[in-house]
Amino acid sequence: MSETYELSCDCGHVTMTAHGEPKLSLYCHCASCRALYNTDVLSATGWADDQVELPEPGDMFAHELDGKQMTRYGCPQCGMTLYGRHKPGIPVIPHGVFRKANGGHLPAALAPTLHLFYRERVIDVDDDLRKSEGGEAVGLES
Ligand SMILES: [Zn+2]
Ligand SMILES: [Zn+2]
Repeated sequence: MSETYELSCDCGHVTMTAHGEPKLSLYCHCASCRALYNTDVLSATGWADDQVELPEPGDMFAHELDGKQMTRYGCPQCGMTLYGRHKPGIPVIPHGVFRKANGGHLPAALAPTLHLFYRERVIDVDDDLRKSEGGEAVGLES
């Protein structure tokens, strides 16, 4: 069984798809994700390049985080963020993009499995998911 997710920005100007099971689904508390997305915690999926069909970079706005090799891409018309490129280059799609395409609900197959860089958090989370103090849980340097 291979799920295909049809995704789009709020105004429909840009669309993209993701196929199968994400490589990662997590909450990232790192300072870089928080800065890039202007949020206290990033709730997102990570994919392999061959699982996603992304809009042409020229059709998007790009916001690069200084010196971090991390860029956030979104629709230049409505301003909605669609995905990011994070170290080591993987496409990252926020859970909220899937919620909008699925009546407000996160598809069960995309449920997050852990908290990453929990030691950098600005909010505490009381749930049963594993808390990885650094990035070691996904093979990133801690
Ligand atoms: Zn748009
Ligand atoms: Zn992060």
